[in-house]
Amino acid sequence: MAKQEDLFKNVISHAKEYGYIFASSEIYDGLSAVYDYGQNGAELKKNIKEYWWRSMTQLHQNIVGIDAAILMHPKTWKASGHVDAFNDPLIDNKDSKKRYRADVLVEDYAEKLLQKAEKEIAKAKKRFGEDFDAEMYKETNPRVKRYLGDRKEILERLARSLTNEDLADVKKLIEELEIADPDTGSKNWTEVRQFNLMFGTKLGASADTATDLYLRPETAQGIFVNFLNVQKTGRMKIPFGIAQIGKAFRNEIVARQFIFRMREFEQMEMQFFVRPGEELEWYEKWKETRLNWHRSLGLGEENYRFHDHEKLAHYANAAADIEFDFPFGFKELEGIHSRTDFDLKAHEEHSGKKLRFYDPELKENYVPFVIETSIGLDRMFLAVLSASLKEEQLEDGNTRTVLKLPAVLAPTKAAILPLVKKDGLPEMAQKIVDDLKWDFTVQYDEKDAIGRRYRRQDAAGTPLCITVDHDSLDDNSVTVRFRDTMEQKRIPITELDALIRKETDFKTWMRDFSN
Ligand code: ATP
Repeated sequence: MAKQEDLFKNVISHAKEYGYIFASSEIYDGLSAVYDYGQNGAELKKNIKEYWWRSMTQLHQNIVGIDAAILMHPKTWKASGHVDAFNDPLIDNKDSKKRYRADVLVEDYAEKLLQKAEKEIAKAKKRFGEDFDAEMYKETNPRVKRYLGDRKEILERLARSLTNEDLADVKKLIEELEIADPDTGSKNWTEVRQFNLMFGTKLGASADTATDLYLRPETAQGIFVNFLNVQKTGRMKIPFGIAQIGKAFRNEIVARQFIFRMREFEQMEMQFFVRPGEELEWYEKWKETRLNWHRSLGLGEENYRFHDHEKLAHYANAAADIEFDFPFGFKELEGIHSRTDFDLKAHEEHSGKKLRFYDPELKENYVPFVIETSIGLDRMFLAVLSASLKEEQLEDGNTRTVLKLPAVLAPTKAAILPLVKKDGLPEMAQKIVDDLKWDFTVQYDEKDAIGRRYRRQDAAGTPLCITVDHDSLDDNSVTVRFRDTMEQKRIPITELDALIRKETDFKTWMRDFSN
């Protein structure tokens, strides 16, 4: 655990040192759970967005993208259920005065039971070797059985209490499990209360005529209210999808996990409209498609797992998260939800407008069902950053810090480095920059010894370094150094464009994973 905490601290300080993430308005001591992206962060974030956008829209003929406004008619949030039900259960510790999400306290407790079970299983696997049957062990070993059974029971009870709005039982559960304030160990808790997460604001100049508005807490509703506009103007036929990337705002109760839980963040969402009755088939398909998208980035298969929801939101008939192994453990990275026809129907009721599709094959009018895929851009950023940051022991006894970002996402694709700052090498390097900059983000760097420049680019995540030396003047070739293997290769300058493309192109990364 201590090691994991160190890793998380390293990620946060590395993100600052290399211009990825700064605290918002830092000179005024920052604003809680709000962050700014620096020069490298803005590029990485843009590249993640593009990777998602292109794989959703460009690779699917039946998915188009929109960009709806953050401010929406206030009735939107009544219809969607956010005014009445977008709450988190909060609990305060009377001694430490710290505030927590009651459901998260219980979930973390349950996660510890799972970890204990997994530890036992791993130990047994070591003991029994090849023939070990983990499934059988889970069912027969009394200790493992108890851990897993208790966990299931706790999560089911939590889901039941939350569904029934029985907050007293959530408090009782916390007390029965003897859950303590993670910071201080105190078990002196207040009652559990509901807290609405939407930020309110006002539209209009004078106090009497101003209308109450909300900053959108999710981008999805901008898609639902435009369903018919897009369907008609794009002549879309079911099944089809609408994708969107944009800011969302939530007044989160607990915001102590860097960019994992922010008050202002970005979502990448896609709503896929299908025939009623076909939604669960599409739900399975989108689970697979989305996991493949993650796998394409090569951050490690073992870092992902599905978590099927016990407690379904009021609009869903199936839901799962793709969880990622963040430095603080497995947590939700993306949600895939079968939202039924809840949203479109609710908007029909509240607006008085029909939101239906005439299906020419069935010769029938219906309100489509919806599968949603919803991923937090900032959480994806954190997943990429934390899985990429490595301390490596080198053969010569030194260590190096290297940010092994997927090359397709890296802010700078190649650094062009003249070996020395004289003899015409800077001019030649600059010429290479001027040729490549039209197609790739490249950077010229001449300061410090070449070894130090390599290390700097390693730590910033640049996948390729291109060194111009004295031989280059004669043979028009350069040395390319690969970040991950530190392998070096001599190639003609004319081949640089093709090499960088091969290493960093969307097609190279996504092709084998697209379905
Ligand atoms: P959590 O349970 O962690 O609060 P959620 O289930 O409320 O998340 P959704 O409403 O399903 O999240 O939102 C979809 C995605 O948006 C999440 O999977 C997550 O990646 C992202 N997201 C949600 N809230 C935040 C936040 N406060 N900061 C950053 N990303 C967020």
